[in-house]
Order: sequence, then C-alpha cells, then structure tokens
Amino acid sequence: MKHLEVIVAGGGIGGLSLALSLHQAGIAVRVYEAVRDPAPLGVGINLQPAAVRELTELELGDVLAVTGIATQRLNLCNKFGQLIHAERRGLEAGYRWPQYSIHRGKLQRLLLQAVRERIGDQNVRTGLRLVRFEQDENRVKARFADRQSGSDQVEEADILVGADGIHSGVRQQLFPGEGAPRFAGQALWRAAVEAESFLDGKTMVIAGHFHQRVIVYPIARRRSGKVLINWICQKTVTNQAPPREDWNRRVAKEEVLSAFGGWKFPWLDLPALIDQSPDIYEFPLVDRDPVAAWSFGRVTLLGDAAHPMQPIGGQAGSQAVLDSRVLTRALVETDDVVAALGRYDAERRPMMNDIILRNRNFGPEAAMQIAEERAPNGFVCIDDVISRQELDAIVGSFAKAAGLDVETVNHRPSYVSR
Ligand SMILES: Cc1cc2nc3c(=O)[nH]c(=O)nc-3n(C[C@H](O)[C@H](O)[C@H](O)COP(=O)(O)OP(=O)(O)OC[C@H]3O[C@@H](n4cnc5c(N)ncnc54)[C@H](O)[C@@H]3O)c2cc1C
Repeated sequence: MKHLEVIVAGGGIGGLSLALSLHQAGIAVRVYEAVRDPAPLGVGINLQPAAVRELTELELGDVLAVTGIATQRLNLCNKFGQLIHAERRGLEAGYRWPQYSIHRGKLQRLLLQAVRERIGDQNVRTGLRLVRFEQDENRVKARFADRQSGSDQVEEADILVGADGIHSGVRQQLFPGEGAPRFAGQALWRAAVEAESFLDGKTMVIAGHFHQRVIVYPIARRRSGKVLINWICQKTVTNQAPPREDWNRRVAKEEVLSAFGGWKFPWLDLPALIDQSPDIYEFPLVDRDPVAAWSFGRVTLLGDAAHPMQPIGGQAGSQAVLDSRVLTRALVETDDVVAALGRYDAERRPMMNDIILRNRNFGPEAAMQIAEERAPNGFVCIDDVISRQELDAIVGSFAKAAGLDVETVNHRPSYVSR
C-alpha cells in the first residue's frame, strides 16, 4: 500500500473512530478539532452491535464493557406506559456483540485517549477550526483558524475528511447554498440523572407518540447501586428553529414538567426524574436533506457531516463508526485515492440517504403513533389495536435497511482485516 497522509477535521465519535481505524491499517492520520479542551458533553447515546463490533476490532471492547450498560431490551409504550412492543437487543437478540447505552461524553473521552496513545499527542491538534480547503490532482491543503492566537495554519495531506458534524465547514464549502439545518418542529429536552434503576436495569424505553414522547435508559452503574439515567423528552412546538447559539441551552424543569408532569408510569416516575435532574438542556430536532455526493476528488464527508439525521433508532453515532471502517477498507483496497473515496461514497451514501428520509417518518417508532391514533385512551390488549404482523413489518424492515440486523452484523467479513 502506498504511504498516505490523511487530515481529519473534527474529533467527535466519527473523526476519532476514523483516526483509530486508519492507524490500525497503517495509514498516517492527524486530527484537527475546533474545540481546544473537548469536554465530556452530551448525555446518553446508543452504540448498536454493528458499531460495537468495529470498536471491539479496534481493541476497545473491554473499556466499553466497563463504561456503558449492555442494553438487553427495547420497549415501545404508549403515553400511559402500556407496552406496545418489546424486542430483545444486543447479545439477547442473538448478536455476537452487545449494544451499549453509554454517556456520549465518556465515549468521546475514551476514544480520544486511545487516539492520543496510538497516533501520538502531536497528531491530535485541538483549538483549530477548518475554515477552507483547496485541492489539486496530487494534494489537498486545509486552512485552520486558531481562535486563541488569531492566526491561520495551513496543513497539507493526500486526503481531507470532513468529520466536523452537522455544521460541517467542509460540507458548507462543497454545498455553499445549503444553509441551516432543517428544523422538524420539535424540541428535545435532555438530561442525565442519578436515580433508582427501573424495570430490569437493562431496558431502553420509548413511550408516547409522534408529537410527544420520552426516551429513557440507564447509561452507567453507580457504586451506590443507583444508575445514571438518560432521558429525552421530545415535543412538537409551534415556534421557529432556535438560533444556533441557543442549541444546548439550559431550560427550567418547570417548562418540561408543564408538558410531562402527568407522565407517571407504573414502572417509572418520569416527573420525579425531571424534578431531580440537575441540568436540563434543550436541543432542536434537526437534520439535513440527503446530498448527491460526499466525495469530491481527495475530499470526503463522514458521520453527521455526511448524513445528519433525526435521532431515530439510536444509530447516528454507530453509523459514523461504520463510515470510518468502510472508508478505511476502501483506502486499503486501492492505491487510487480518488477511486477509494468514490467507492466509500457509493457503498455508504445510498443507505444513509434512505435512513435520513425514513427517520423523518418516525422509523420503527411509527408503531407508537399508530397505537396513539387507534387507542388514544389506552388499551386492554395491544393485539386489538395493532396486529403482530403489522408490528413486525414496521420494526423489522428498519433494522435491515440500516444494515444493523443480526444476519448482516454477525455474518459479514471484517471491514478491515488486521
Ligand atoms: C455537543 C454534542 C452533544 C451531543 N449529544 C448527543 C446525545 O446526547 N445523544 C446522541 O445520540 N447524539 C448526540 N450528539 C450527536 C452524536 O454525537 C453524533 O450524531 C454522532 O456521534 C456522529 O458524530 P460525528 O463525529 O459525526 O459528529 P459530532 O459528534 O458532531 O462531532 C463533530 C466534531 O467536529 C468538531 N468541529 C466542528 N466544526 C469543525 C471545524 N470546522 N473544524 C474542526 N472541527 C470541527 C466539533 O467540535 C465536534 O467535536 C451530540 C453531538 C454534539 C456535538
């Protein structure tokens, strides 16, 4: 394999996974992250078995196992907490790898630590925001702004990967007319709070319907025997999209309680969880329209920069990990950089574009909306409301379309053989 140098703009889950993956394949990589001291931001995130497989092949299986909680069940419920559909997840569902519910910030920190150890501190450059790039047939040059010194730095490599999230500077240069993300008219209120475990302590629950719902799952065990519970309350709002500076702003618990104060289930006291949460953050439900290409010569996109999606199916982070492996494989398989980026684009983009659009239709959680429309006051038996075949069709088709089903994950060869 020809000696290659790759610049990764963005040190999120996608960019860091890519750095680990390229390093494993013997490709030189440098990561440039806009934030100077990346803090463990965010609340819970799910890593699907497909991504856990890749991270295990990157020798992070053990650290993930002690950091997250291996999720064994997903329950879809109505707004009264009545069970509509339950499915096994991770090892319980027959995957060879677990599904983890994990604190996003801790995941990012453990990835960052592994990247620093493996590629060297000098190749992880923080406080540098990509502002512009240019390329010719041999090289790509990327200009980074250093906010602290006020100066710019120009870096050169064979390839530039924009793993710089939903507000990607790389994507903006490739698609200058695209504008702001598309607001789906819903607010997400999110928090993580220490509390008593609920159900079996390994279950993720999504309850409600399209216009109002809660997603709740434990993300870490505490020595006290309690768990750290991640909750996200989501609600249709009539106001416009908030300005970008207001993303991740704190909201008062009273605002959340005014919408969810009555959501006390037999198995979980949601209002009490909200009331005990130290910090609650508001985040708009956004995505972007699919694009017709990710790869342009020596430049490509990855993760949220490539396929910013609504958070349905707990898969955005996992898909970024999968991108990183498919891109690595393409680079290992051919010395022609442009052809490799084209191959990665052709393999990943059609599926991700499809998922972006499917997520707008509520993905597998469409079953909850059907239950709400047919039985707004609850039900005695779910079979009277929605048939098993209807449920299986909604839930099953989604995992396969996203490449996250048991068969695909367990039986395909490794993307990157060591
Ligand atoms: C603060 C935050 C909190 C989140 N919380 C959750 C959550 O609780 N649950 C969940 O499911 N998902 C969450 N997500 C989204 C989730 O992490 C992503 O969908 C997924 O992990 C894909 O990651 P990514 O690496 O592609 O993008 P991101 O995670 O967005 O990472 C992109 C990185 O690029 C950096 N960056 C941006 N612009 C530039 C630039 N011009 N030059 C250099 N670097 C740049 C950013 O600082 C960031 O570190 C969160 C994302 C963020 C940024």
